[in-house]
Order: sequence, then C-alpha cells, then structure tokens
Amino acid sequence: LQGSAEVLTTREQMRLKSLELIQKGQSIGFVPTMGALHAGHGELLRRARQENSVVVLSIFVNPKQFGPQEDLSKYPRTLLKDVDLAKSHGVDYVFAPTIDEMYPLPFLTQVSVNEKMTKILCGQYRDNHFDGVCTVVLLLLNLVGAHRSYFGLKDFQQFTILRKMCKDLAMSTEMIGIPTVRSESGLALSSRNQFLSESEASQALAIPKALALLWQAYEKDAVTVRELKTLALSKLQEAGIKAQYFECREIDTLQVIEDSTVLENHDDRSTEALFAFAGFMGQTRLIDNVVLSHQPVYQLAGKELMRLSLAREIDS
Ligand code: AMP
Repeated sequence: LQGSAEVLTTREQMRLKSLELIQKGQSIGFVPTMGALHAGHGELLRRARQENSVVVLSIFVNPKQFGPQEDLSKYPRTLLKDVDLAKSHGVDYVFAPTIDEMYPLPFLTQVSVNEKMTKILCGQYRDNHFDGVCTVVLLLLNLVGAHRSYFGLKDFQQFTILRKMCKDLAMSTEMIGIPTVRSESGLALSSRNQFLSESEASQALAIPKALALLWQAYEKDAVTVRELKTLALSKLQEAGIKAQYFECREIDTLQVIEDSTVLENHDDRSTEALFAFAGFMGQTRLIDNVVLSHQPVYQLAGKELMRLSLAREIDS
C-alpha cells in the first residue's frame, strides 16, 4: 500500500498537480490536518485511500485559527514522521506549505459562517477560531480540487460549519465525517494528548465514560436532555473535571435543544441530538462528543464508545 507521499510546498505546485490529476480523470480524496499525525488522522487517510484513486494530505498549522492566548508556538510539529506515516497509508501527495506561501501579504480575505453556528460552543471561548478554519479550508479546497474531503467527527462543530460553508458556496467537494478514533481506554485521540501528564490522562478517561453512560441511558429509554446532562456531569464531577461547556444541540444547525426536551429512541421516531463537551485537564483543552441518532455512522460510533469506555467498568 506504500504511497510515494511526494511533498509539495507551494500553492502553484499544488494547483498544477490538481489540474493534471483532474485532467487524467483521477478522483482526489483530501485529508486536511495540522500534522502531528495519529491513528485518528490515519483513519481519515484509510477512508480516503479506499474511496479515491489519488490521496492528498495537507499539513499546515494554521495561525488564523489560534487565539493570541493559545498554543500556536507549542503545537507539535513532526513533519518527517508525518511523511513516513503518510507513505504507509498510501498517500500520494503531501501539501505542506509555509505560512507566507498560504497567506501572501497583504492577505485581506476572511471567510465567516454566521455566528449562530460559529460563536457558540467552542466559538464562544475561541475568538475567530472558526473564521480561521473556514478561510484555510476554503483556500485548501480551491488548491486541491478534491472530489471528497474527510473530517473527524471529534471536531463536530468544525465539520458541521464546514459542511454548511461548502453547501452555501456550492463547493463541489463531497464532505465526509469520520467517527472519532479512541484509545483502548476510550479517550478520543488528539495531537494535544501528548501534553497530558499521567494523572491528567487517567482523569480524562471520565470524559468518554460520561458520554458512554449518556449513550447507554438513551438506548434504554426515553429520557430528557436534563436527565442525560445530570448523569454525565455527575460522572465528570466525580473525577474532578469541570466542563467549560457541556451542551445539547441539534446536529445540523447546532441550535440549542432545551433541557426539558424528551429524547425518544424508537426506530420510527427517534430524536437526534449532539452532546458536546469541552474542558481543561491542567493546561490542555480537550473536546469530545456523542451523537444520539439512529444513523448508522453514529450507531457505530456510540457502540464503540460504550465498548471501550464501559467494558472495564462492568468487569471491575
Ligand atoms: P487536526 O490535525 O487536529 O486539525 O485534525 C485534522 C483532522 O483529523 C480533523 O478533521 C479532525 O477532526 C480529525 N481528527 C482529529 N482527531 C481525530 C480522532 N481522534 N478521530 C477521528 N478524526 C480525528
């Protein structure tokens, strides 16, 4: 499966390569990342490899999506290792531009999706974060000309905003969301996990556990949003975790679902809902979520979450 993972560094190289591939009738699968690749990125690449004739990976730590107080300078950069991993996942091209190449001065454009979607959840705590994300992804999509683009559902708000942007602007790429890849003990993989101390990492396991309990309760019975929040929050509290937010939202619009809403779980009338968490373990900000839904992709994700997070619980 070894790919050549040829590294391209300029906009022009990427654009010309894309035109050449499209002219040859190739289908391009695209996985945008900030590098420091782990098995979560690996899963996006695996799907892209399965579904396209050419796979393009981008690695760009995008300054526009970091706030002034955030970890831009500390963000892990492991390009050589990433290129090796890209090869082993059958990647054909790695687009790894510099900041000046991506944003030649003066760079005067910013892409914004309405604040109903971007100033809530993570956007409430990360100023202009999603404008930065939308700007870089639109630019990358224009350069890569992807037929299909792959994003992780771990960053559920990000995926939902980007999908809306692509729909509104009639972008021709198909947007594909991939279930969160987790460690054996359930923690959602993230490039930032390497900053966790041993005790923070074990404390953080309460996050997927809380989400798994919530999933389990929903699977059993009709429950209110309030009941599910209380269940998950008490699990988090038990572990000494304070949520920055823990919210229930509609999965397409991201609008609030009220605490009194009853979430039904029958094949014919199931309610869909996102429960999203963010919080700090020491200095490290982690996010995770679960989607209550009968759609196969969310069923798979929920069952995997249960298997990893609650199996040990039941044993002990
Ligand atoms: P990042 O490099 O963190 O910007 O992530 C690049 C892409 O990988 C995004 O679409 C993320 O949602 C996705 N991703 C990150 N972590 C995971 C994970 N644990 N499982 C699945 N996808 C992930």
